[in-house]
Amino acid sequence: MEAALVPTPMDRESYEKDSTGVRVSPATKVSDPQILDSLNTLGGQKESDFERSEDACEMARRVEQFVREIVIPFEADHHRGVHGPDDQLLTELRALAREAGVLTPHLLKDGNHRTHRDTAMILIRSGLSPLGPAACNTMSPDEGNMVLLSKVATAAQKERFLGPIVSGEARSAFFMTEPAAEGGAGSDPSMMMTTCVKDGDDWIINGRKAFITGAVGAKVGIIMAKSDLGACMFLVDLPNPAINIDRVLETIDSSMPGGHSMVTIQNLRVPKSQMLGKCGEGFQYAQVRLSPARLSHCMRWLGACIRANEIATYYVCHRHGFGKLLIDHEGVGFMLADNLIDLRQSELMINWCADVLDRGSLGTIESSMTKVSVSEALMRVADRCVQVMGAIGVSRETIVEQVFREIRAFRIYDGPTEVHKWSIAKEVKRNCLKKDDR
Ligand SMILES: Cc1cc2nc3c(=O)[nH]c(=O)nc-3n(C[C@H](O)[C@H](O)[C@H](O)COP(=O)(O)OP(=O)(O)OC[C@H]3O[C@@H](n4cnc5c(N)ncnc54)[C@H](O)[C@@H]3O)c2cc1C
Repeated sequence: MEAALVPTPMDRESYEKDSTGVRVSPATKVSDPQILDSLNTLGGQKESDFERSEDACEMARRVEQFVREIVIPFEADHHRGVHGPDDQLLTELRALAREAGVLTPHLLKDGNHRTHRDTAMILIRSGLSPLGPAACNTMSPDEGNMVLLSKVATAAQKERFLGPIVSGEARSAFFMTEPAAEGGAGSDPSMMMTTCVKDGDDWIINGRKAFITGAVGAKVGIIMAKSDLGACMFLVDLPNPAINIDRVLETIDSSMPGGHSMVTIQNLRVPKSQMLGKCGEGFQYAQVRLSPARLSHCMRWLGACIRANEIATYYVCHRHGFGKLLIDHEGVGFMLADNLIDLRQSELMINWCADVLDRGSLGTIESSMTKVSVSEALMRVADRCVQVMGAIGVSRETIVEQVFREIRAFRIYDGPTEVHKWSIAKEVKRNCLKKDDR
């Protein structure tokens, strides 16, 4: 029989039920020691050598087991869709995550967020499948929105808007970017054109938004608009007749539920009790959200690239060409060596930035540095994985092709590489001139 060079995509009907009634795929079942050690394929120091809470280590182990055994078989499901998993698949996956005790695993039982270091360990593992973050409720934009609401929302706002996101019953969307063709906000948020005007005890919002992830199907929206006093944020229930989804864009990526939409907001009336924080402080709140949200993207996509690298490694260690295994050709071996280096460097940058945030800093520069470094390194990793797998690498026989597409988009959202480098350069100049003044 021909040896499999890549894990066979599983057919949902062929799952077996194990004795606990949990569906598992025999092809992807792995034993506990393997799971505990699997991310050590990066080589060198084990993650357990870093200081982590025991509870987070256990949660990370469970998340990895859940993603590898339960979620990965769903990668062949037709409900996976071009605009992320549909509601039916999402509901099914979340029910399984709830049953396995790994839904919203980055939050503690008391509702508080874990440290960023502990979160890193968990989110990297939820990212091992492009479906993992959606299944575990660690995905963007919900995870970033949870951070923002936990820090800025009032108790009443938390109960009404945050609770359903944390429990995995509601998805949320963050409305900031505007259509480039109309001169709206993109990399430069100060170009915001969406307005909010006070009318008695309410605010009236008008404007157009672009690339709003998850707007289709979301129940909670966070909308940014400008007032005479500066930028404001509002919490709204979705869907809303004053918020029209004009169209869902066809984009290179396909993991985020609801895809990315163009939206028109027309005379949306919002009571003042639904303003998030204070009037005029919207950009400060966006900063509160940005650093952790950037970092968590790095975590999830590192997980995805670790998996892509596992698949590519398996291929080149079993496929022959010109009388030897592909790995034994220096051109191939060096690509995998470079992958290990890039993956390890990404992990170290993530942990460094997580430490900075855990010490209470906003981490604006550190998260910019990390976002640039990790997104660029992971792009190289994903590209090498595609390359060493030949034709299979560009096919949908494995998730390597999807990971490559997803990482390409990641170099743009949450700040394109050039914009982050530009901010870092401004900081370099500021620091240098400060020294001149002394
Ligand atoms: C998949 C995806 C999902 C997204 N989801 C959301 C969402 O849910 N909510 C939301 O509000 N937004 C979302 N966005 C929008 C995203 O945040 C913006 O794309 C991003 O901020 C860049 O803005 P822009 O696309 O208008 O690019 P532009 O501002 O037009 O910039 C284009 C390019 O110009 C270069 N550039 C710009 N400024 C500088 C500079 N100062 N120095 C050097 N080069 C520069 C960069 O190379 C940049 O990529 C999403 C985008 C994508 C791709």
